[in-house]
Amino acid sequence: MTASHPNPSEGGALERLIQILSRLPGLGPRSARRVALHLLKKRETTLLPLVAALEDAGRTIRACRICGNFCEDDICPICADPKRDPSQICVVEGVEDLWALERAGAFKGRYHVLGGTLSALDGVGPDQLAVGGLLGRLRDNGVNEVILALGATVDGQTTAHYIADRLSGLPVTVTRLGHGVPVGGELDYLDEGTLTAAFKARRTL
Ligand SMILES: [Zn+2]
Repeated sequence: MTASHPNPSEGGALERLIQILSRLPGLGPRSARRVALHLLKKRETTLLPLVAALEDAGRTIRACRICGNFCEDDICPICADPKRDPSQICVVEGVEDLWALERAGAFKGRYHVLGGTLSALDGVGPDQLAVGGLLGRLRDNGVNEVILALGATVDGQTTAHYIADRLSGLPVTVTRLGHGVPVGGELDYLDEGTLTAAFKARRTL
């Protein structure tokens, strides 16, 4: 029996694959190794289709020019839908929150994805968030309500107050989601009933 090295050789393709996989959310080095081995064993049914899907996604999926949602066109289906209420914009931290609200069917207006929250700890300042784009949208269109659907974390609330500040003096009502969003909770983890209730109970900031 030939002795084989128990770990992938340093700098090789397999090690690179494991390293990249271990950066994905929910995967540490251990599960990254397991995923890499699974892909290699299922070359035809999993590895090659995954390569094709990743290439396709990398080439075609981009951020909507207006709201920041992911889509394959210049403008996402929500922004392009004439049936969505153009007078309401719901501001969310990330696309996952937008998807959660869409799944709940709680909102029929349009969205604006900030791309994060202000965070002194992580060095995220206003320039890294899509606040300028939001102000631009308010100048152009007949928007009369901006709903801040940001998490109840310290960073989420700091961001909400910062945006409310930037919007003060503009002819829009700024509201936030009502009770029902737990402290530190993220929208993606909330069930549809809770989200709908939080939307109905929204209050002026
Ligand atoms: Zn859009």
